Amino acid sequence: MTMTPEGSDRSAETTSETTTETVAGPDSDEEFRTRLRDFLVTRHPGRPPKKPDERLAWTRAWLATLFDHGYAGPSWPREFGGMDLPFGRQVIYQEELARARVPGPLGTGLGIAAPTIIRYGTQEQKERWLAPMLRGDKIWVQGYSEPGAGSDLPSLRTTARRQGDDYVVNGQKVWTSHATSADIIFTLVRTGTQQSRQRGISYLIVDAHGSGVEVRPLRDLTGGYLFAEVFFDDVRVPVADRIGAENEGWPLARTSLGHERAAGAMNQAALYRRVLTELEQLARERGLLGDAVVRDRFADLEIRVRVMRYNAQRVISDILAKGEPGPTSSVSRLLITEFEQEIHELAVDLLGPAGLLLKTEPGSVQGGRWLHGFLRTRASTIGAGTREIQLNTLAEQVLGLPYDPAMPPR
Ligand SMILES: Cc1cc2nc3c(=O)[nH]c(=O)nc-3n(C[C@H](O)[C@H](O)[C@H](O)COP(=O)(O)OP(=O)(O)OC[C@H]3O[C@@H](n4cnc5c(N)ncnc54)[C@H](O)[C@@H]3O)c2cc1C
Repeated sequence: MTMTPEGSDRSAETTSETTTETVAGPDSDEEFRTRLRDFLVTRHPGRPPKKPDERLAWTRAWLATLFDHGYAGPSWPREFGGMDLPFGRQVIYQEELARARVPGPLGTGLGIAAPTIIRYGTQEQKERWLAPMLRGDKIWVQGYSEPGAGSDLPSLRTTARRQGDDYVVNGQKVWTSHATSADIIFTLVRTGTQQSRQRGISYLIVDAHGSGVEVRPLRDLTGGYLFAEVFFDDVRVPVADRIGAENEGWPLARTSLGHERAAGAMNQAALYRRVLTELEQLARERGLLGDAVVRDRFADLEIRVRVMRYNAQRVISDILAKGEPGPTSSVSRLLITEFEQEIHELAVDLLGPAGLLLKTEPGSVQGGRWLHGFLRTRASTIGAGTREIQLNTLAEQVLGLPYDPAMPPR
């Protein structure tokens, strides 16, 4: 695995290149688009390697290339290696990356932990953690859910007991995406009594390679190992690696959950714009667009992919205006997850028996991508808060309906 040492972030020579390439002006939006597109063509990393370790190293190398040339973190402050782009250019950025088919971020830190650190971290923590995360030198993963604490996160039981300048952490997390390649796990732990619920939770950053951390992969429906169980057995974590005050991690968790739901909204809207066009093309080649019912299903998805784009714009403008995505992020999450399930359902329906062949089987269509997507997206309406929890959020925070008595007060 090619690892770039932490701290080898921008060198003096790359900083000067960055300055001319990422400043919002003086070029026009269209010039910015052309410049970014040229960069993505020139530096494109090519096709991904098949072996997981090589693929990981390949993705890390790409993230480092983006960072070193000032094309990482479109919404991040420049101080921490981001581009600090205005709204319109963030949209262009996501459209161009989706168009170029380049690898996305590693782990889940960028969309979830980073906004939390930017808002609540100390200056020292920001300097220590943000740039290596953005550059892909350190992969961050989210350890919130536990057996018995998913939708009801305030009931979490992993404990962190203070001993001198450390916490000693014990407990178990589950469904931790990308945990097998993690360097850092951002966790919620109980520092108060079990009865304290959301008033006794702290936000702790744990070294995934530390003594007492064990990661056990979990197989998913696609046959892959997206997520894992993580066990903490007397893991020592410096108090300096807590974000925010002790027992006051819940507002941080809420910030990060909002960003988790918003994360990649524009990127996914742009991605699914391309995927829908590719499915239309496949249906055309197979002579399926003569069927009025098929055309009707495409028309429905066409409308929804455009609504996703507008909603993603709403999410970005909310973050820019208020610093938080707010409940719009739940709308966005619902739109994307339901869309991605339905587009793959349509694809598998259209392809008939051939649509049920995996990439390893002769006769599979486009390497089995549609079946893989169909299986993968069954979980979309569970991760980052289930569909029911998103609907509750909208009912309560947008429509003003009574609060769910089972959930903590806002
Ligand atoms: C693909 C995927 C990736 C994930 N990645 C991560 C990760 O990286 N890190 C992490 O910490 N977690 C992760 N998760 C876990 C995810 O956040 C939880 O699965 C989710 O919050 C649901 O929790 P649960 O599984 O405990 O289900 P439960 O909370 O037990 O829910 C069971 C059912 O009850 C319903 N329900 C529960 N409470 C209510 C309520 N108050 N009102 C109405 N209905 C309710 C739910 O909607 C659901 O249908 C991931 C999950 C998936 C599927």
